[in-house]
Amino acid sequence: MHEFRFEPVRLPAAAEALRGEVRAFIAAEVAQGAFTPSRNSWSSFDPDFSRKCGERGYIGMRWPKQYGGHDRSALERYVVTEEMLAGGAPVGAHWIADRQSGQQILRYGSDRAKRTILPKIAAGACFFSIGMSEPDSGSDLAAVRTRAARVEGGWNISGTKVWTSGAHQANYLIALARTSAKEEDRHAGMTQFIVDLSHPGVSVRPIYNLYGGHDFNEVVFDEFFVADDMVMGEAGTGWKLVTGELAFERSGPDRFLSTYQLLVESIRMIGPDPDERCANEIGRFVAHLATLRRMSVSVAGMLERGAQPIVEAALVKDVGTAFEREIPETFRHLIPTEPTLGEGAGYAELLGMTILRAPGFTIRGGTREILRGMIARGLGLR
Ligand SMILES: Cc1cc2nc3c(=O)[nH]c(=O)nc-3n(C[C@H](O)[C@H](O)[C@H](O)COP(=O)(O)OP(=O)(O)OC[C@H]3O[C@@H](n4cnc5c(N)ncnc54)[C@H](O)[C@@H]3O)c2cc1C
Repeated sequence: MHEFRFEPVRLPAAAEALRGEVRAFIAAEVAQGAFTPSRNSWSSFDPDFSRKCGERGYIGMRWPKQYGGHDRSALERYVVTEEMLAGGAPVGAHWIADRQSGQQILRYGSDRAKRTILPKIAAGACFFSIGMSEPDSGSDLAAVRTRAARVEGGWNISGTKVWTSGAHQANYLIALARTSAKEEDRHAGMTQFIVDLSHPGVSVRPIYNLYGGHDFNEVVFDEFFVADDMVMGEAGTGWKLVTGELAFERSGPDRFLSTYQLLVESIRMIGPDPDERCANEIGRFVAHLATLRRMSVSVAGMLERGAQPIVEAALVKDVGTAFEREIPETFRHLIPTEPTLGEGAGYAELLGMTILRAPGFTIRGGTREILRGMIARGLGLR
């Protein structure tokens, strides 16, 4: 059975000092009108803001200086991400590259990939998408049908990815493809590739979401050529790589702060004299938030020590995304406001947009059922 522990981690003084700096930076940006704090922080694409984050050393923080990084700790990075999200900063452009793709390249990329791509990511000038899901392969990633065939000097990829967030604005994506026929071990024979979206042979088509926004895409590869030095790790090891990548994707503050702005605004709407029901709910949410944060910081501590806390990350994501989904559900019953999508409608709009976005929180990055299956296996229950 997996030893399932969340050791308490105290943030070091350097991380707390950084918190003050990030808060001051965000406040100055808001005061200058550079952005309006958004409820959609890590899905808001703003390349200018990303470039400023790059200049201040807030991207690629853990990477070595040689690749444009800043040799800082996972806990210092944690503080920056949590302040950005709590402040509603538009970090969406660089989010995926900073959270997971760059980390994968650092670990498994070729020398050329590291030299040419990582410094651009760290400068806030190069953005990534995630090319995992396919029309018939979401939860069951091992069912991917996108194929890569061996050709001279590299691989030709053909197939279709779907729900590829931000691919229309990104420079690259990391695609998971099958590189050899299915064997008895269905996790064998897959490989991750770095795909340059500006090259010929790949097309990106929009899929509009529930409220008419364009976040998702369908990405179609037609004999798209990827050179050998844009393969991640050894060909055939894609399953190990992709599951490791998901640990970075699942445990951060982005998995419980998506509706933080609504929580804060709801508390403000209820005012200083809540009735008993409101006081109970506010107390419960704040207590859950504090606990989730400690669990998530604890996972950051494990990543810092070089561990691969895959099951712990799955637990944080499951409990964290349930928390962020519950916030709109609860406050829509407590505060008599008709939710709307009308721009400029203040709290009613914040509530309306959050209600429409919330179902995706427990789906993106792995559904609750899948996470619970992993947790149960980790606990030795299945
Ligand atoms: C906002 C958002 C952004 C996304 N961005 C990206 C992206 O950038 N890149 C990307 O690759 N993907 C992205 N996705 C896709 C996401 O990862 C998939 O939607 C998700 O993995 C589920 O896959 P599916 O949609 O194929 O559903 P399915 O796998 O068909 O699942 C349907 C339902 O069946 C349940 N289910 C499936 N298998 C099991 C099982 N074994 N046991 C119990 N229940 C099961 C699921 O929990 C779910 O409720 C995004 C999704 C959302 C909502």
